[in-house]
Amino acid sequence: RAQKQGKSSFVLYDASMQLELQSRMKMEARLLSALDHDEFKLVYQPQVDSSTGRISGFEALLRWENPELGQVAPDKFIQIAEDIRQIIPIGEWVLLTACRFLKKLHNSGYEGYKISVNISVIQLKQEGFVHTMADILQKVDLPAEFLEIEITESLFMESSERNELIAKLDQLRQLGIGIALDDFGTGYSSLDYLRELPITTLKMDKKFVDPIEQDEDSRSLASAILLIGHSLGLKIVAEGVETASQFHFLKTHGCDKIQGYLFSKPLGEAEVAGLLSKWDDGRA
Ligand code: C2E
Ligand code: MG
Ligand code: MG
Ligand code: MG
Repeated sequence: RAQKQGKSSFVLYDASMQLELQSRMKMEARLLSALDHDEFKLVYQPQVDSSTGRISGFEALLRWENPELGQVAPDKFIQIAEDIRQIIPIGEWVLLTACRFLKKLHNSGYEGYKISVNISVIQLKQEGFVHTMADILQKVDLPAEFLEIEITESLFMESSERNELIAKLDQLRQLGIGIALDDFGTGYSSLDYLRELPITTLKMDKKFVDPIEQDEDSRSLASAILLIGHSLGLKIVAEGVETASQFHFLKTHGCDKIQGYLFSKPLGEAEVAGLLSKWDDGRA
């Protein structure tokens, strides 16, 4: 009897693996045609300068809606898009779309705003990536200083390629593009990266922002991150700021910018225009 049960549970396990594989393959197939079918859009989350309370820029965040799969969260599909290298054309679409959006804002008189775009290491590793970036900026006619790319620490794990990647980041810096280290303090963080990478901005992960109200140790950690970042000449953006007291603490400790639901969720293009018409008093 035990044997029989064992066998049937094996079969069950096998069937669920089979299902998982099927859904994965389905997702891959849908991802491959998603660009052609116009299933992606970008939303934009404001970043607020904590000393002035003004919006300084936006982070572009990718959204995917497939007729069959519905809304799929980036955390569910980015990794798969990376595995099948589809992140390369998708990422190029993101860059072009985000830059065009910003150019449109600038042209409507909302000047000075910046755009931050998440970049996958697969894109960065691609030959000709720096050239692609320069091309996009030229095509859109956007000065490089308005563009910042966000990269995550995990990317730099593989030390064999590290020097090559750093050289590429240096070239992007030379073009005038800003570089933010995203999700700082999570994953494969090493303080050494801060010294090694030619970054301009540090994005303090939500993980450090969340517990600020709860205990002194968390506050010490958050203020230590701010101190380290600032002493290295970096700007610091706090991610996932949801409460007024988190904002107050971060502002008091010199955090340059905040991003989070407290100020705004990621917004569609029309909503951004609506927000700026209310908030931007510096319209040219
Ligand atoms: P991320 O770059 O760290 O982006 C911040 C995430 O936190 C976003 O999730 C944003 O919607 C969410 N968020 C912002 N403020 C708050 C808050 O106050 N509370 C909470 N709970 N969440 C907040 P999202 O849009 O689901 O993106 C998840 C991740 O997917 C991003 O993390 C980024 O790593 C990746 N991603 C998004 N768009 C792209 C893209 O165009 N290209 C690449 N390669 N990755 C992307
Ligand atoms: Mg990001
Ligand atoms: Mg982040
Ligand atoms: Mg993240």
